[in-house]
Amino acid sequence: MAAAPSEPRPGDAARAAALVSAARRITVLTGAGISTDSGIPDFRGPQGVWTKDPAAAAMSTIGAYISDPEVRRRAWRNRLAHPAWGAGPNPGHAALVGLERAGRLHGLVTQNIDGLHQAAGSAPALVLEIHGTMREAECLACGLRTPMPEVLARVEAGEEDPLCPECGGIQKSATISFGQALRQDVLDASVAAARSCDLLLAVGTSLTVHPAAGLCDEAVEHGAWLVIMNAEPTPYDPMADAIVRDPIGEALPRLVAAATDGSPEASGGPSGDGVPGGPPG
Ligand SMILES: [Zn+2]
Repeated sequence: MAAAPSEPRPGDAARAAALVSAARRITVLTGAGISTDSGIPDFRGPQGVWTKDPAAAAMSTIGAYISDPEVRRRAWRNRLAHPAWGAGPNPGHAALVGLERAGRLHGLVTQNIDGLHQAAGSAPALVLEIHGTMREAECLACGLRTPMPEVLARVEAGEEDPLCPECGGIQKSATISFGQALRQDVLDASVAAARSCDLLLAVGTSLTVHPAAGLCDEAVEHGAWLVIMNAEPTPYDPMADAIVRDPIGEALPRLVAAATDGSPEASGGPSGDGVPGGPPG
């Protein structure tokens, strides 16, 4: 058990609760860690599929997908078998719905493609899926979007590589593969949500994948507090105002409950333009 350079300090749990209580516009960034309690594996974590099998990661490049029909056939079989189809949201997802209903959620940026925030009841307009969604298929030629279950029904019926019903082009899940550009409108909205919040709460993300991780820089540079809730250390821990390592399914509901039960006026939150006082660190 190597000592991490940035472990939670005494009082971090209380500090996290106080900051979330004080904040008025919270932008949340979620990663795979919030969905592991729903039975969806973390591909990049220490036990992740891609960590243990780099060849599997190489398979998910857009170039390999377009050029190699066998990669596409494997990809469709994997989509059909994806654990998310049988998964439901967990208390971590539900806690963020509570934060939204309390009027404190400014934006919800997720690196996850599983759609579980919307399934939990988060307003679709608030959810920014920077890595796309597995709930839809997209034609790489004409851009047609189709609900994924419709396309997977064709796979189940025997089509190994179902082509676009409109133009015959190659289809793929509407996710961002390695080597594929992020959607600029979603990225812009995510950066705006990070710059205009008074607290960025990063949940279940290793903060190693950019540009998602860079939202922490955007938030802190614009005066926001940074609270990181993740089982493993992240490169942004030294910059954080509080670090929480407890299991998300318990810690996040507790944090949100503590922050929304109390009087919003009680804790002396940010004033004026909402920029929190007190330099981090
Ligand atoms: Zn098409």
